[in-house]
Amino acid sequence: MNNYFNTVTLKFVLVFSVFIAITSCNQNKGKTQDMQATNILLEEWTGPYGGVPAFDKMNIKNIKSALEVGMKENLADIDLITKNSKKPTFKNTIVALEKAGKTLNRVQRYYGIWSANVSSPEFRKIQKEMAPVLSEFRSKISQNKELFNRIKTVYENAQKNPLDDDQQRVIQIIYERFAMNGAELDDEKKARYAAINKELSTLYTNFSNNILADEENYVVYLTKDELDGLSEAMIKATAKIASDKGHEGKYAITNTRSYMDPFLTYSNERALREKVWNNYYSRGDNGDEFDNNENIAKILKLRKERVALLGYDNYADWRLQNRMAKTPENAMRLMNAVWPAAIARVKEEVADMQAIANKDNITIKPWDYRFYAEKVRKQKYDLDSDEVKQYLQLDKLTQALFFVAGELFNYNFIPVPEGSVPVFHPDVKVWEVTNKTTGEHIGLWYLDPFARKGKRSGAWATTYRSHSTFDGNKNVLASNNSNFVKPAPGEPVLVSWDDASTFLHEFGHALHFFSSEVKYPTLNGGVRDYTEFQSQVLERWLSTDKVINQFLVHYKTGKAMPKELIEKIKKASTFNQGFATTEYLASALMDMKIHMVDPTNIDVDTFEKETLTEMNMPKELVMRHRTPHFGHVFSGEGYATAYYGYMWADVLTADAAEAFAEAPGGFYDKDLAAKMVKYLFTPRNSMDPAEAYRKFRGRDAKIDALMRDRGFPIPKI
Ligand SMILES: [Zn+2]
Repeated sequence: MNNYFNTVTLKFVLVFSVFIAITSCNQNKGKTQDMQATNILLEEWTGPYGGVPAFDKMNIKNIKSALEVGMKENLADIDLITKNSKKPTFKNTIVALEKAGKTLNRVQRYYGIWSANVSSPEFRKIQKEMAPVLSEFRSKISQNKELFNRIKTVYENAQKNPLDDDQQRVIQIIYERFAMNGAELDDEKKARYAAINKELSTLYTNFSNNILADEENYVVYLTKDELDGLSEAMIKATAKIASDKGHEGKYAITNTRSYMDPFLTYSNERALREKVWNNYYSRGDNGDEFDNNENIAKILKLRKERVALLGYDNYADWRLQNRMAKTPENAMRLMNAVWPAAIARVKEEVADMQAIANKDNITIKPWDYRFYAEKVRKQKYDLDSDEVKQYLQLDKLTQALFFVAGELFNYNFIPVPEGSVPVFHPDVKVWEVTNKTTGEHIGLWYLDPFARKGKRSGAWATTYRSHSTFDGNKNVLASNNSNFVKPAPGEPVLVSWDDASTFLHEFGHALHFFSSEVKYPTLNGGVRDYTEFQSQVLERWLSTDKVINQFLVHYKTGKAMPKELIEKIKKASTFNQGFATTEYLASALMDMKIHMVDPTNIDVDTFEKETLTEMNMPKELVMRHRTPHFGHVFSGEGYATAYYGYMWADVLTADAAEAFAEAPGGFYDKDLAAKMVKYLFTPRNSMDPAEAYRKFRGRDAKIDALMRDRGFPIPKI
């Protein structure tokens, strides 16, 4: 299943991994033919470019039955594998497993669009109903004894008589995945394992819904005399929201990051800042029916009980075994190396701010941090973000993406003829991706750029189809999704520097999808603390001269962004890193620590408080995501004990960027770019990430570049 979260912001953007590749075939097509005739979601993708999803014909009434048919077919596919009387081989077991569940895989793509791009209360009802059903379905496969016995036989045979490298890796990944998910347990333990997962799936849904409820229930309505400091654009937007909510003449600050953050940065009304801050950081922690503390305690206990069935001491040990970090200790070592520098920088930042706040007779509190940081920023760097925006037009940035992809990957992007590829909304545009030299077709790129009702916040990348060759050459259908504000017709979309970086970031995920050269679908899977590298590294091309001179041009004069402005942006990039790194790391450390303790009698609020005290968390700021609303970790398992992964990947990113900065051809050095594509993009998960990085860099990544990027001293470790 896709992982999706309610709160995703700028730099902390997620990549949606491909639906777990336990998936497909058509042998049992006859059984479901009648339903297929009436349910478009079940049908093979037809049309140009190797077949494309029928996004224009999606009907929500079909989704539940489509999922049910898809699951049934998938289970029938598995039956065919386990009932095979021949001895287990790579072909009759692993290859067959790679092919299983094709129909469900297609249905999941539509399901993903409904959940992320065009959601509705009607869909959320279905989602709530189907979450435990899908969980039970997954257990049926991951706990299938006959299936696992066959996989185990193939795995053990391959240990004695190795197959091709990529086949060896597929077997290993699949074997470990099953073993990690309870396939080797006895029947009694298996039943408990599945029951735990089912219970967890409901707790995850409840957790998310409680956050949503607190985001909807705690809106601050301002009167006209309480707007001091807010921008015209913000005043307009908040007036509209208030009137939509039936509070005509007022201004609504909704309880979400996109309103909390600018309000705390710009509002001169300190008491209101405190109120907005309190609402936001109390989500899921209000001691009422939407309080999440009890849910978290239950989740932690169930996770612990589940991994104990497999013989693991704690959830973190179990989770990290196939990550690049391998153990929680390795992840903690990195975080602990950066933490002292981060909190030391907070001290300096607070001192700078306090000097200004003294004039207002104010001692800096958490709801003052953003406000006074902004004042320091203006004083120190004189950087006007509105001026920067005038050089960042969405259309030109899109051209910049294509240029970078052309230089590094040798790709060409051509708009497909209007109407030739179905889309789920008229805003979505599609390009064909080809090899610049040979013209060979690689795939399609879907871009859904604008915010709208029913679309989740943040930015993300997905695939509708991934590359593989084992069952015929499959082209890639990849998408990027953002939440830019749609302009009036003919007006340019001007975006912030951060949003422009994020736009490149998501495109990095797309390039990672397009460049795949793997044979088997399983090898497309991501390693959670590694998949952010490919996206983060692409952000670095935004400030290269070639991009600036051609694409970062003023929307009126067409002149390239001046050197001085670029210099200011670069200089300001280490600004407020104490705040940014500390709020992130506090959450990442908490995520790891809370999964390493015994949760038997845990009181979540107390644990959080005591842990932060032990860590010497500065009192002037809070965790980026406090535990009661940490959706990454408790609304599913995708990022549980994985939040550290952003920093883990950033170590590689910073180190790789320095390699480019030092190369003879800089960021457009042909040899280094070719090496990066060859070792860090095309293999996806067919090569151990640490080994791949070593091939690219000639050594392991060092923490030094990351510390330099953030303006921190380099620790001796
Ligand atoms: Zn990402």
